[in-house]
Amino acid sequence: MKSFLKIEKHSDFPMENIPFGVFLNQDEPHICTAIGEFVVDLNILESFGYFKDCSFADEKPFSEAVLNKFMSLGKEARVEARKKIQELFLENSPISGGKGFLDKILFPLEKATMLLPVAIGDYTDFYSSREHATNVGIMFRGKENALMPNWLHLPVAYHGRASSIVVSGTDLIRPSGQIKNDDKPAPEFSKTNQLDFELEMGFFIGTGNELGKPVKSENAFEHIFGMVLVNDWSARDIQKWEYVPLGPFLSKNFATTISPWIITLEALEPFKVEGPKQEPEPMDYLKTQGNPTYDINLEVYIKSGKMSEPYLISKSNFKYLYWNMAQQLAHHTITGCNTRPGDMMASGTISGPEKENRGSMLELTWRGTEPIKLPDGSERKFFNDGDEVIIKGYCEKDGLRIGFGESKGLILPDGQ
Ligand code: CA
Repeated sequence: MKSFLKIEKHSDFPMENIPFGVFLNQDEPHICTAIGEFVVDLNILESFGYFKDCSFADEKPFSEAVLNKFMSLGKEARVEARKKIQELFLENSPISGGKGFLDKILFPLEKATMLLPVAIGDYTDFYSSREHATNVGIMFRGKENALMPNWLHLPVAYHGRASSIVVSGTDLIRPSGQIKNDDKPAPEFSKTNQLDFELEMGFFIGTGNELGKPVKSENAFEHIFGMVLVNDWSARDIQKWEYVPLGPFLSKNFATTISPWIITLEALEPFKVEGPKQEPEPMDYLKTQGNPTYDINLEVYIKSGKMSEPYLISKSNFKYLYWNMAQQLAHHTITGCNTRPGDMMASGTISGPEKENRGSMLELTWRGTEPIKLPDGSERKFFNDGDEVIIKGYCEKDGLRIGFGESKGLILPDGQ
């Protein structure tokens, strides 16, 4: 698909992508998309009547400050909006000659201030990577009991904290809390010394489900709007002391960073793939057909204050996940739990079969016993202040590349 806008070969945002986000235009949040190196202001396009033929025109979803309303309109509106935007920016489109008008709607992507694109009501974090659950299980319980007895029967999750989900580029303040060291008789209050990342992806609910009406696994993708990159920051020392018996609490509620662009399921369609073989066979409400997951390459980089270039520390892929998004949503709602437009569900740390696929410092350094050497000569067991952690994601097939952009966060010292 060719546009009159210049799009570099390895751009994350070709015409086939059309992600949705929110950026700051003269101090106002405006809904936008990205094409090549440009942010396209959909708020202004809508105010000039460019969506007036669409079935959702009366709703004016792009005049909102967040995407929730547009998400709630469902797949049909999303497909229609994408098609309209693609038509507008095709080669020889009538708007291609209107320099004055293009100056009003196009902004350099590089300089754009991106905002959290969604008012996130509820956030759930799954634990769906078999390799991650196994690695952590071996470290904490030994090889024999690595996977808990429930793990292969249901997608394990916990209810997370939506208020501290932040957009890429937001600094992270090192948290403090209760920490109990093995060689001390009692817990102490201290800043965390084991600040970690978790390489994850998240999906947003588009159309929700009513209380009491579970989403069936075969319809689950109809309820999903799109996906983002997620860094579920974790304080391992705080986690170790607090997590029994109800799971993580303060060790994960201080920040979760997401990438600013939501990539729609339509853009990801060409990258659908089979998931891992599931044995034992899932219960009926968890069965899915066809290719229920996506081939999405994931990379994690670290950049210390002394490094000029980010350094790759992990490479993984969304397709390694044992439980797919349809199964996660079907399981989440099987009790009748309702979901609402803009709710976010994260995958859990995405590790893979190889050592280089490990999606956390906990696993990469095997609890700090095998530190990572950085190009600036220093070593890391966990992160230092001044480290920047960057997650990137992209799909690639037959010359088509659909990118997610990045999720990054700089670690600052605690304010105590
Ligand atoms: Ca997590």
